Amino acid sequence: MRACGIIVAAGAGSRLNADKNKVLLPLLGQPMFMYAVLALHPFCGRLVLVVKEEEQAAFEGALAPYALPNVMFAHGGKERRHSVENALSLAAGFDLVMIHDAARPLPSREMIQRTLDAALVSGAAVPALPIADSLRLVDEQGFSKAVPRERLFAVQTPQVFSRPLIVKAYQASAVATTDDASLVEQLGHKVELVQGDMKNIKITLKEDLAMAERLILSGIRIGTGFDTHRLVPGRDLTLCGVNVPHTLGLLGHSDADVALHALTDALLGACALGDIGAHFPDNKAEYKGISSLHLLREAVRLMAQAGFVPWQCDLTILAQKPKLAPYISSMREQVALALSLPFDRVSIKATTTEGLGFEGREEGISAQAVAQVREI
Ligand code: MG
Repeated sequence: MRACGIIVAAGAGSRLNADKNKVLLPLLGQPMFMYAVLALHPFCGRLVLVVKEEEQAAFEGALAPYALPNVMFAHGGKERRHSVENALSLAAGFDLVMIHDAARPLPSREMIQRTLDAALVSGAAVPALPIADSLRLVDEQGFSKAVPRERLFAVQTPQVFSRPLIVKAYQASAVATTDDASLVEQLGHKVELVQGDMKNIKITLKEDLAMAERLILSGIRIGTGFDTHRLVPGRDLTLCGVNVPHTLGLLGHSDADVALHALTDALLGACALGDIGAHFPDNKAEYKGISSLHLLREAVRLMAQAGFVPWQCDLTILAQKPKLAPYISSMREQVALALSLPFDRVSIKATTTEGLGFEGREEGISAQAVAQVREI
């Protein structure tokens, strides 16, 4: 079951003292809103980003390196409700609509899944957390008194609704709202609360950004990969998805792209998901002559299912010949596209072995890779 995701990113300035929309601010080198996009995207048949018209170019520029399919834009209206209504008009054909705030970069995969599951049954589900702190209500004179917290919950996003229900809720109400669930309630429809997530913080203050950075870094994992293929006449030489003219090519069941094999193993290794041979056995006809870029994309899909996205990689190709320097930039582009990573998160290097060993004797080419992945 795929939903139409709506990420509201049209919010005005902020308490972060930034001169631009806070969700465009970098968070560990990636724009903040991209974290929400990457978290929701695997669950969505279509993802609509609600942005201010004058900011669309900035969002498009930030999205471009990730080459994600099925992402569309809707423009924000004067109020949040107009923005969401504009986006809802692009959700036709989907049973469920998942509405998320771009200022929450860290919705977990499990939480998204349980909210979707609940909404599929009840028609309306929102993640929420019980309040841990004691609460006090302050009156106009500045006096405060304790408020019982047992029945109070803090509401998060994404909120998930059956599409006809949320469309009807918006049509039926003229009230400006920051909470979609409250509109559904006004129709007399029950809103189900599901377990939220402490890490699903909303970025409002500078301190929240620092907290988000710590949470993201606590979910980074690392993996390594190594591969060797034999050089033979009569085969193409493909390295990192780029055809490199040479008198010899690499022997293998697939296109024998030794560099991408090492990288794929590093990514799978970081997620403890086994290795390339286990997922794409070299005795299967379907993988004969296949582009290893395709295998890499498949590995990224497997990683997403397990709750991981690529974060950064560094690759070293060990080859005596040919000279690879002229192809490195194209290789980085190919890998960045396949991993949905910005160009500057993909490093590829080549070295000779000074004529030593089998690489030096031009009997084969090896590659080693280190990759970091981020838990979602
Ligand atoms: Mg191999």
